[in-house]
Amino acid sequence: MALLDVADVTVRFGGILALNELSFVVEQGQICGLIGPNGAGKTTLFNCISRVYQPTSGSISFAGSDLLAVPAWGTARLGIARTFQNLALFPSLTVAENVMVGAHSSSRQNWLTSALRIRTRREDEEQLARAWGLLQYLGLEQHAFRPCAGLPFGTLKRVEIARALAASPRLLLLDEPASGLTHSEVGELADTIRAIRADFDLSVLLVEHHMQMVMGLSDNVVVLDFGRKIADGAPSAVRDDPAVIEAYLGSG
Ligand code: ATP
Repeated sequence: MALLDVADVTVRFGGILALNELSFVVEQGQICGLIGPNGAGKTTLFNCISRVYQPTSGSISFAGSDLLAVPAWGTARLGIARTFQNLALFPSLTVAENVMVGAHSSSRQNWLTSALRIRTRREDEEQLARAWGLLQYLGLEQHAFRPCAGLPFGTLKRVEIARALAASPRLLLLDEPASGLTHSEVGELADTIRAIRADFDLSVLLVEHHMQMVMGLSDNVVVLDFGRKIADGAPSAVRDDPAVIEAYLGSG
């Protein structure tokens, strides 16, 4: 059984067909690249998987469960975590606090007890220890007690990944993680994503415009153009696919 199974998903925004009967799967342990020219529907798909948008039609299952029956706040607990193209961190909170927010999102406590801060000291300590381990893993420990505001963009991208990992996901959705990074940072990021897949035993769905990174990192690449899937396969096959070349040349 595939970890993520997207079947015939269509999303309409008025007259715009953002996704047009899209189907593909992400297998357990796979890094799946999702590429396509601007406006192809990549972010719309992420928003469906993280339950921000409800598809017009189609189905999405995650680990055998109907994902479309789960509210947005339930996806982290189910095992899905996401990073954002434009970062979604709390600037005034420290790096460690932002990472702990991620752990909290998948916590089994209910929201009322959390809001009332009825937590045991042991739970707090466990979350802090886990956050600290992630900060060390991502080489962020020297920034742990600094507010996110003012830290370099490349560092903040790593904080976002740490925050997503704090939720112990089975599927990590990465939305353009390489955007705004320097050439050497992109290389380091690719190594980090590869290591995370192995060390945390998870699958990755990667939206990215940096072709070299996607092709070097992905087991499978899905290509969208105007909301439709035009290719789905190994990076080497997708790279040489005439429909893919045409879509990218046409978009330039
Ligand atoms: P990019 O690479 O530029 O981020 P994308 O592949 O992520 O593009 P989407 O952002 O998913 O593409 O957009 C797909 C289409 O749906 C575009 O035509 C976009 O204008 C439209 N769209 C996306 N979200 C909305 C919305 N909330 N309301 C109306 N149209 C939308």
